[in-house]
Amino acid sequence: MEYPLKLEKAIELTAKLPSVGKKSASRMILSMMKWTAAERESFAESIVELNNLKTCKHCGLYTEIDICSICNDEARQEQGVICVVESLTDLFAIEKSQEYKGTYHILGGVLNPLLGVGPEQLRIEQLEKRCQERKVNTLILAISPSVEGDATCSYLKSILPNIQIERIGFGVPMGGSLEYLDSMTISKALENRREFS
Ligand SMILES: [Zn+2]
Repeated sequence: MEYPLKLEKAIELTAKLPSVGKKSASRMILSMMKWTAAERESFAESIVELNNLKTCKHCGLYTEIDICSICNDEARQEQGVICVVESLTDLFAIEKSQEYKGTYHILGGVLNPLLGVGPEQLRIEQLEKRCQERKVNTLILAISPSVEGDATCSYLKSILPNIQIERIGFGVPMGGSLEYLDSMTISKALENRREFS
């Protein structure tokens, strides 16, 4: 038996979300059918509203204004430290650990020549600019250990010779992503950072 077209379409779109298969998507959409029409409308509206979000000119975080609240925080800026992460979820994972008080920079991935990801595809130029324009003395690279991650760190080191470059320490498994680590592990990894060479 197939679902009516309208249901089928909603299920198909929901199944595009990470870790949602067709089965769980069906379950989600069918449970939504128990909502009121107004609830479904407000859900749909909240998704459409995402189109109006901007990305912070400095760090790349989603924001409603040009500069996000983290970058706007003077106490954080004064640290002169930028923590470079691959993704928004990594940023949130580090924020949750409450160990770090500086600003961030979201790269949007790591260098991967095989997949056609070069420096231009990442927010590397913006990072260089920030380092030139602001009093940045240290970059903490919270980039997961993998061949591509290591190459990205080496590249950043080579283009930013006047900045102290550190990399977060052990506790982060090879190929592991920060978003799946608990706050304690992230705190330890930040504590155990060392100069990257
Ligand atoms: Zn920002």
